[in-house]
Order: sequence, then structure tokens, then C-alpha cells
Amino acid sequence: MPLKIAERKKLNIFLRDFFANNRIASFFDIVECLQKEYPRLFTKLTESSYKLTIEAYLAQYFLPKYMKEGWLQIDGDNYKVQLSPNRCSYCFKSIDDIYIIDIDLNRYCGWRCAEKCRYYCDPYESHLDTYQELFDRFSTWLPQTRKYSNFIKMKNTDNISCLVKEIERYVNDVHFDEFRWPLEEQSCIESEIYRMLQVLDREVERLNKFIE
Ligand SMILES: [Zn+2]
Repeated sequence: MPLKIAERKKLNIFLRDFFANNRIASFFDIVECLQKEYPRLFTKLTESSYKLTIEAYLAQYFLPKYMKEGWLQIDGDNYKVQLSPNRCSYCFKSIDDIYIIDIDLNRYCGWRCAEKCRYYCDPYESHLDTYQELFDRFSTWLPQTRKYSNFIKMKNTDNISCLVKEIERYVNDVHFDEFRWPLEEQSCIESEIYRMLQVLDREVERLNKFIE
């Protein structure tokens, strides 16, 4: 009997979680972990893939999808996660401007993924508090500014005005003056602070045109 939709979804979640926490693994590792963590699903899979081995079933129906998404590749006898600046290093979803970096400069779409990932480690650099606080605001503000930009013809611009003032008040604080220029020997945290400030400046500039 083939796997039900709910079981396929569960298997998909298991596999993504597995690779988020095991960046290189053999089929044996995958199947062993599945059997240990989801014994019922393992049994279902054994029954549903009666003509194929579990390995062949996964290789045929699940893993090619991840390879096509671009974050998994075959490396000898193993499957290996291919990290990319364009994807979260935990959930493997595409990311654009909103991301945080870890000590190895891998990117995560937010704290939720970073905190769940066993590979995540804070960069050993100064200004970490400033960086993390700015990121929290940046990741809240950016979706809002971009949402407003999509409603250019909106008549009531009070909300935009409020948001712009709030952002301006924060990013124009003297505290950020030292991060305003790209320095030659900028640390990665400093360059990330610089990047986020630049993005917010551009957003403010754009929104200001609507409310002037
Ligand atoms: Zn993520």
C-alpha cells in the first residue's frame, strides 16, 4: 500500500530535519535515524516499498526533489548538504535580505532556525549585541516597508509615516555612526550592520516619496 499523503508529509519533514542536523550522511544513517525516531513511519515505509528497498524508495521518490532544489548532492556513498548564501542553512528555504550569519558565515532565515540548528554558533566578534538587536528590528520592519511599497496608491499614509519615523529615529542614532561607512578591515558583523542600515536607508527614502 502506498504511503498516505500525511505520511509522505511526515517523511518529508523528517528528511529535511535530518539533513538540517546531519550535513553529510549515508543511507544507513538516514534509515537508522528514521527507525529510531519514527518507528511507525519506518514500518509503513517498509510495507509501502515492498518491491524496492527503503533506500531505493527514498532515492527514487524523495531525495531527487531536494537535489533539484539545489541544497543536496551525492558525494561518494553519502548525501551531502550543499550550503548556499541564497538558502537558510537550517530549513533550506530561499532567503533574500533578511538573514543572520553564524561563526562560519552560514546564513539563517531567522532566530527560529538558528536556535534549532546544532551547527549554529555566534560569531566571536564585538558589536554582536548591536548586530542582533538591529537584526530583530530589521526583520520586523523590512516586510512592513515592502508591503507598504506595494500599495503606492494608498490614500492614508499615516501608518507609513509612523513607520518611517520609527525607523529613522533608530537608524540615525549616533550609536550607528561608526558603522555608516564600509571600512577596509570591516569584520563580518560590522559589514552586516552596514548592509542592514543601507537597506533600511533605501526603504525609508522610497517610502518618504509617498508621504511627501
Ligand atoms: Zn530557515
